[in-house]
Amino acid sequence: MLYILHIEKYNLEKKKMKGEAMKFHLLIFMVFLVTLASAASSPSVIIVGAGMSGISAAKDLHDQGVKDFIFLEATDRIGGRIHKTEFAGHAVEMGANWLHGVGGPRKNPMYEIAKEIKLRSFYSDWNNISYNSYKQEGGRYSKEEVDAALDMAESNEDYAEELSERLSAKKGKDDDMSLLAAERLNHREPKTPLEKMIDFYSFDGEQAESPRVTSLKHIIPRPEYTLFGENDYFVADSRGFESIVHHIAKTYLTYTNDTLNDPRVIFNQVVKEVDYSNSGIVTVKTEDGNEYTAQAVILSPSVGVLQSGLISFKPELPFWKRRAIAEFSLGIYTKIFLKFPKKFWPTGKGTEFFFYAHERRGYYAFWQQLEMEYPGSNILMVTVTDDESKRVEAQPDEKTKAEAMEVLRKIFGDDIPDATEILIPRWYSDRFYKGTFSNWPVGYTIKKHNNLKAPVENVFFTGEHTHAQLFGYADGAYYAGKRAANDVNKLLKKKKSPNLRSLYYWWM
Ligand SMILES: Cc1cc2nc3c(=O)[nH]c(=O)nc-3n(C[C@H](O)[C@H](O)[C@H](O)COP(=O)(O)OP(=O)(O)OC[C@H]3O[C@@H](n4cnc5c(N)ncnc54)[C@H](O)[C@@H]3O)c2cc1C
Repeated sequence: MLYILHIEKYNLEKKKMKGEAMKFHLLIFMVFLVTLASAASSPSVIIVGAGMSGISAAKDLHDQGVKDFIFLEATDRIGGRIHKTEFAGHAVEMGANWLHGVGGPRKNPMYEIAKEIKLRSFYSDWNNISYNSYKQEGGRYSKEEVDAALDMAESNEDYAEELSERLSAKKGKDDDMSLLAAERLNHREPKTPLEKMIDFYSFDGEQAESPRVTSLKHIIPRPEYTLFGENDYFVADSRGFESIVHHIAKTYLTYTNDTLNDPRVIFNQVVKEVDYSNSGIVTVKTEDGNEYTAQAVILSPSVGVLQSGLISFKPELPFWKRRAIAEFSLGIYTKIFLKFPKKFWPTGKGTEFFFYAHERRGYYAFWQQLEMEYPGSNILMVTVTDDESKRVEAQPDEKTKAEAMEVLRKIFGDDIPDATEILIPRWYSDRFYKGTFSNWPVGYTIKKHNNLKAPVENVFFTGEHTHAQLFGYADGAYYAGKRAANDVNKLLKKKKSPNLRSLYYWWM
């Protein structure tokens, strides 16, 4: 009897256990279905940042048949470092302004689009420095004085080209030196305020960093100009330089009444974490608590943002990658706009640019009057870079205005009126940029740059800084986006459905 009771109890428990096991399997199956459903609704690719490189990457993905991507953009607009704003009733460019490299053997895609959409742009004639250079305490330099300093700069440029060629010819050796070292080897290190001003115009004005920290081999000759041509055009159009970005975006994103209206572009999403610890899936977390998963992520923020730690990685990026990011350089280039009640500077042919030589390198050195671009606007633009940019960003606008006015009074006399408005973009202080455009630092090897652009598993990297020749320019960002799209597409083709595959392993 006891035995029978025991058997029955055993059978009952067995049934109960079976039921429990059934319940457990059912639960797992439901989790599987839910995960499957969410995996199915996940995009294939997440693109972090909708600047030129991100927009260009998605265009190529779209053209290759990958349409299930999403953008997570920290701000409320596309374009990133290409951004116009209203100043004194005119649209001025806070970021990219020039269509560089025009008239050469290859077509600059930025210029081609600008032509197509009839963007107002103006040829920049850099040939009149000799007539428009002013001394620290006022008064013009003579043409002979400026020509002598220009000859010195030209000699440095020629020597740098020859040296760069020699260093590049050394097979298997990634040999380099700074631009300043090349000037020293040429026995022509700029020393006087005038020489430093012209040196600043030649190098800092383009690289946003000084020749002391800048690579000779990767800057001279400048591929932007050898490839695309030597001419520059300054964009001054109410639609802004950013209309080039929109022109590309419109080919594949939805616009309603000329306004971007595509659910795949999600604004105000500040990415704070990229988790690639699960094979085949990447999870991206934003500051407002949202989570997105995909098969791959493309990161387009500037190298300064990557250096800042705004985005963390799980697991931490490998050392070779972190090192490549840490050692590259992001320059700071600040265009300060000043509005005056009347004109007091010379206008007409050959007066577009004027220069101020100060013993402090780059101290309000490089001026441009915008009469041709914005007729009757009475706007002047002065450019500072690097440490001067940081200083100007950190101080009140009124202080900067007072400093600029002091310089202008040295140049044009005490009777000139004060500026009534000032605009100072603050790219360095902005945590979504941390600077303006990248510069190749001395000693940074090609191998390191390959590491800079290389993916880590399914985390891909784009952005102007990842283009080895055209870094720093809008067209570099454009090509970098295309390259990243290609790399991602290869991965997607290889792994038909990595999400399902990893779910299968999880299930097993
Ligand atoms: C002052 C200035 C002057 C310039 N002048 C010229 C010029 O005359 N000619 C020229 O060709 N080029 C010029 N450039 C360079 C050109 O603008 C850049 O090379 C190009 O726009 C960079 O595009 P990008 O896509 O690489 O980066 P970005 O434009 O920086 O795009 C990255 C995007 O990522 C977003 N982002 C950042 N962090 C996050 C995050 N955590 N989560 C989500 N989104 C994030 C940013 O908001 C941004 O939209 C200039 C730039 C500046 C700033």
